[in-house]
Amino acid sequence: MPRSYLKEARRHVGPKKQRIGPIIERLAADHADAAIALRFRSPLELLVSVMLSAQTTDVNVNRVTQALFEKYRRPEDYLAVPQGELERDIFATGFYRQKTKALRGTMRMLLEDFDGEVPRRLEELIRLPGVARKTANVVAAELGEPQGVVVDTHVRRLSQRLGLTRQEDPVKIERDLVRLVPRADWGRFPHLLIWHGRRVCDARRPRCEDCVVNDLCPSSRV
Ligand code: SF4
Repeated sequence: MPRSYLKEARRHVGPKKQRIGPIIERLAADHADAAIALRFRSPLELLVSVMLSAQTTDVNVNRVTQALFEKYRRPEDYLAVPQGELERDIFATGFYRQKTKALRGTMRMLLEDFDGEVPRRLEELIRLPGVARKTANVVAAELGEPQGVVVDTHVRRLSQRLGLTRQEDPVKIERDLVRLVPRADWGRFPHLLIWHGRRVCDARRPRCEDCVVNDLCPSSRV
């Protein structure tokens, strides 16, 4: 969309501070089932699933973890087998060498520094080998203590289209979003954008005519 149109459209829909409330409400009503698609039964399984989900689909991770979580139940279990065995067990998630290294490093640190428990604070989570800010944010949010807003490819695209940020860099986008989104919604907000992105606001063909926030969106084609 040319800049001049975008400027006019932004003026037309009004300030983002006034739009954010209705955007969240309407998306929540439209995607009442929006939630993390990874399957896990404990904080440890959550952490492992999120680590494995890099560069692959949640469906693929769930397929692998079904058997994995029967075999590996505690941090010690990931260190008790030879590296090659764990590599084979997570092979289908891709980047299996890096992921094995990260998993084993993380399990070692959990045992040495955190009594074998998954920490809840973001600054502790990002100390774990192979755990970047996005992974840490997802884990903290799913454990009920969001300390930021997860920014993935959908969150980035939708935040930009909805005129909630003009940034490109995920860290700067997150900074804009935490200023704008009420703290109580930090956990569910990314899920709402992710599901809306998958179902309606497709990267190539957004279905603006079916979108519940099209009157609040400066990129609407309606
Ligand atoms: S109006 Fe269109 S561009 Fe805006 S959020 Fe909805 S589908 Fe996406």
